Amino acid sequence: MKILVTGGAGFIGSAVIRHIITNTTDEVLNVDKLTYAGNLESLNPVSSSSRYQFEQVDICSRAEIERVFTAFQPDVVMHLAAESHVDRSITGPSEFIQTNIVGTYNLLDVARLYWSSLEGKKKASFKFHHISTDEVYGDLPHPDDVEPGSELPLFTEKTSYAPSSPYSASKASSDHLVKAWHRTYGLPVIITNCSNNYGPYHFPEKLIPLVILNALEGKPLPIYGKGDQIRDWLYVEDHARALHTVVTQGQVGETYNIGGHNEKRNIEVVETICKILDELVPSDKKYSEQITYVDDRPGHDRRYAIDSSKMQQELGWVPQESFESGLKKTVQWYLDNAQWCENVQSGNYQRERLGVIAGE
Ligand code: NAD
Repeated sequence: MKILVTGGAGFIGSAVIRHIITNTTDEVLNVDKLTYAGNLESLNPVSSSSRYQFEQVDICSRAEIERVFTAFQPDVVMHLAAESHVDRSITGPSEFIQTNIVGTYNLLDVARLYWSSLEGKKKASFKFHHISTDEVYGDLPHPDDVEPGSELPLFTEKTSYAPSSPYSASKASSDHLVKAWHRTYGLPVIITNCSNNYGPYHFPEKLIPLVILNALEGKPLPIYGKGDQIRDWLYVEDHARALHTVVTQGQVGETYNIGGHNEKRNIEVVETICKILDELVPSDKKYSEQITYVDDRPGHDRRYAIDSSKMQQELGWVPQESFESGLKKTVQWYLDNAQWCENVQSGNYQRERLGVIAGE
């Protein structure tokens, strides 16, 4: 199968491509603009495969996307390219509107014309898989805000959209466009909405890698508000496997929620990382002494939690990694891959791709 992956140099996209090239015989074309979040070093384990190609392309460029579809003739599209950092969306929403909404529109419309031109089996099996977030659903009641013992709801595929941040609003918009291209034009689409991912190759602006690297460097470990926000964490390799399962076995027109059943308060996440580091890299002080509380993010969602029973029942997918085992693997990965972290923190990962010698 020929898979066109957008955003394959990002955190989840690179995990998807490593998974596909390592575990299947599929061929991948990765199109990525290489924003600050795109790092080709995350593809080093598979970049020499003859089944992998990369092109630096902005999904907002219609001409470029048309050229890519014509040249590669994909069997399926897995669309992950996006601006993905909530804090950045609050300080500068414009790129989020462009890439997440206009870029998705562009891809959908080129995919529609391409799919219309196909014939036979290739047309019948074509799928446009849009990768989205559980943040489109807004937030859920928090255990601290309800009567003790009350049942706490989960996000299901039928939960209404109520995005809170410019990021989640832009992803919600893109989901609606995808649904409209299915309903209006018949484009064979599938949507997945996933909870927070963590794991290797995660850009260190996100909570888990930020805390690991700051802890090791003796810097403050910033916690928004009281740190009581609840997120449902999924190991990125479990997500990558889920996405390949969906694109190969999922039903066209359907939405699948993907989550890890790991509801954790942010403070618990940070304390667990500190405990793992206390064991793996002992120092005179406990790492938790570096925890620092900072002003909460405006509009910060209180709780996310995913019901992924449809994925389990219909497609037989279950996460393999528990939160504790996944977090240990993640911390160990950051300890073993100091060069990847150093290249990201120094900006060398961006200079290298522009042909500038690292360290100059
Ligand atoms: P990321 O920020 O790590 O990677 C995004 C990638 O998209 C980068 O490689 C970037 O260069 C590329 N990109 C950005 N703008 C582009 C453009 N205009 N044209 C082409 N490429 C462009 O993001 P991620 O964490 O890997 O997330 C991937 C997808 O999964 C996103 O759509 C995100 O909304 C969704 N998602 C993420 C999470 C999570 O926890 N990280 C959870 C659920 C869903």
